[in-house]
Amino acid sequence: MAQNLQPVVDKFESEMDIITLIARKRDGEALTTDQISWFVQAYTADAIPDYQVAALLMAIYLRGMTRQETVDLTLAMARSGDQLDLHDIVPFSVDKHSSGGVGDKTSLAVLPIVAACGLPVAKMSGRGLGSSGGTLDKMESFPGWSPDLTRAQFRHQVQEIGLVLAGQTHDLAPADGKLYALRDVTGTVACAPLIAASIMSKKLAGGADAIVLDVKAGSGAFMTSVAAARELAQTMVNIGRDANRQTVALLADMNQPLGQAVGNALEVKEALDCLQGGGPADFWAHCQEVAAYMLHLGQKAGSVEEGREVATAARDNGRALDKFRQLVAAQGGDPALVDQPEKLPQARLVETITASRSGYLAGVQTEAVGWTAVHLGAGRRVKGDKIDPAVGLLLPIKVGDYRHAGEPVATIHANDPDKLDRAKEELLATLTWSETPVEPLTHFYGVVT
Ligand code: URA
Repeated sequence: MAQNLQPVVDKFESEMDIITLIARKRDGEALTTDQISWFVQAYTADAIPDYQVAALLMAIYLRGMTRQETVDLTLAMARSGDQLDLHDIVPFSVDKHSSGGVGDKTSLAVLPIVAACGLPVAKMSGRGLGSSGGTLDKMESFPGWSPDLTRAQFRHQVQEIGLVLAGQTHDLAPADGKLYALRDVTGTVACAPLIAASIMSKKLAGGADAIVLDVKAGSGAFMTSVAAARELAQTMVNIGRDANRQTVALLADMNQPLGQAVGNALEVKEALDCLQGGGPADFWAHCQEVAAYMLHLGQKAGSVEEGREVATAARDNGRALDKFRQLVAAQGGDPALVDQPEKLPQARLVETITASRSGYLAGVQTEAVGWTAVHLGAGRRVKGDKIDPAVGLLLPIKVGDYRHAGEPVATIHANDPDKLDRAKEELLATLTWSETPVEPLTHFYGVVT
């Protein structure tokens, strides 16, 4: 147990116990500020076992939390480690965070673009969560690259290269590190208060002055309706504002995977393509928008419109790709792989699947696409599972596109023949077709400020 937490745990041991908290939440009552603070500190200090916290998380999932409980949980989680102040090393820094989606590799392209424009980026990120991939797992496709930074390393890197990408550690948001890993494997991910607290605790701990939230809505998001995504966005924006951080949330569609690649190394390759002016159009449009808001908040662009131009220039002149190389090198990876992506992990079995009928793509069960990648080995099924960076899929078709029967619709990258067969079946079942034309999907549903 961390030494500094022992007195807190002792102090409350007689007054609070986890069984009471579980029962209280199970019965639909609100937890007090002290109860939430105790639970977060005690769990961080390894004083409560996973199975009891899993029960509490499930009770929260089923019963929800009030606004006050959500704020209390966020602040308690942010305070579970250091809360950085970066002002002695950079005058202003930005951060971004996605609420989670399938094929969502936005950070991999956006962070180097923004940092290349001279705006320091200090980002705390996460691993895969349920059906949704995680930036840290993707970056670990570079052998040796590590997100485990101390407070001092985090600060040093912001100062040295203007870009850092860290995970939750003993120093930074440790409570989220533990709760995140437990939620991932206990069916308690898609819960607005838990998502808001998880995201905003990391953002507050990381010390950035401005935060752009990329809140997804749709069949591959944790919030399936735009209304629910808007409510989550508003909760997080309010928490950011109350903590004196400039916070904006974009509401983006997640009714189909973002870009084409789903799976860790495959997504890195797609992000690298994007940083070289290639890659899928929807992915670039998304990155450009998120980067534009970050640049505008950081006063590197007078408007969001100008931010799009500034972001495009940083991509086109190669500075963003260069920043990406620096990020890989600074955290222990080999930057040469950025220019030789074929040396990133590759799956042994690559198989194309074709349309069984002619028609327009009418819909994608996007969460199921994410689970297909998890079943191939791209995500975790139990805590501590080792993921396979090479596996995943490419889905180069968007809602509204037409395919003749027999034309390719997807490619599966697998390392196990049985998993490959299962993935083919699962993936085809996620697609629905129409004989009549289908409208393409909207990218953005609005902005919450
Ligand atoms: N991203 C996070 O960091 N936490 C969540 O709960 C969901 C997305």
